[in-house]
Amino acid sequence: ASREVFPGTTSVELAPGVVLGDGSLTVMAGPCAVESREQMLRTARGVKASGARALRGGAFKPRSNPYAFQGLGSEGIALLMEARRATGLPVVTEVMAPEDVEWLAPHVDVLQVGTRNMQNYSLLKALGSVDRPVLLKRGMAATVDEWLQAAEYILAGGNQRVVLCERGIRSFDRSTRNTLDLSVVPLVKSLSHLPVVVDPSHATGRRELVAPMSLAAVAAGADGLILEVHARPEEALCDGPQSLDLDQFDALMKALSRLHGAL
Ligand code: PEP
Ligand code: MN
Repeated sequence: ASREVFPGTTSVELAPGVVLGDGSLTVMAGPCAVESREQMLRTARGVKASGARALRGGAFKPRSNPYAFQGLGSEGIALLMEARRATGLPVVTEVMAPEDVEWLAPHVDVLQVGTRNMQNYSLLKALGSVDRPVLLKRGMAATVDEWLQAAEYILAGGNQRVVLCERGIRSFDRSTRNTLDLSVVPLVKSLSHLPVVVDPSHATGRRELVAPMSLAAVAAGADGLILEVHARPEEALCDGPQSLDLDQFDALMKALSRLHGAL
């Protein structure tokens, strides 16, 4: 992952024409969890119309509470594939278990490793030998060095398409869900050739903070953003309070394009 071994910048192609790390700004958006056909298609069409380049949605949800909605599993993957056919957007989804990597990979475009699994080394090794880009979220208590070493596990296995994602870390302050560590964007870019994206939704946990932190992330040099968007956030089964509705997402996309154009 280090610049010492690879001094340039790696660009990672998520799908034909959707590239992270080439100077463009790639926004991935969608609900926290795949909940239903109607929810997925409405949200996917909405984010596409506003300029998202990829669709996110979790089918396997790593919930802290074992009694909370755990995701639709393989049924959710089928709905994601349907949303991809309807919109042409590549899909990003979390994989939680090493044994799911092989069957899941051919069906989706990008495999996400969640914050709780950043140090699941069996999972990272399984992802090292798959032909799919990996979005590697920073562990909520991981140092930069631990994060880059986790990336190294995937690269060492032969998979060169790794994207780093800052999603907030634990601090003493509970007034936001996590603490967005924006300084890691320029820091990691100085240490590593890998593209870096920011997830202001999980970092803040509060919808009203998502737009300002998205703009700040782009100003700090992020190659992309991953945002939670829901057609009806008040009905979301997971992470509603941090999800933008489609109008808020559209307004943010306009502000992002003005800022990115001005930089
Ligand atoms: C998610 O992207 O929905 C998610 C569970 O994120 P994290 O692993 O960052 O908590
Ligand atoms: Mn979520």
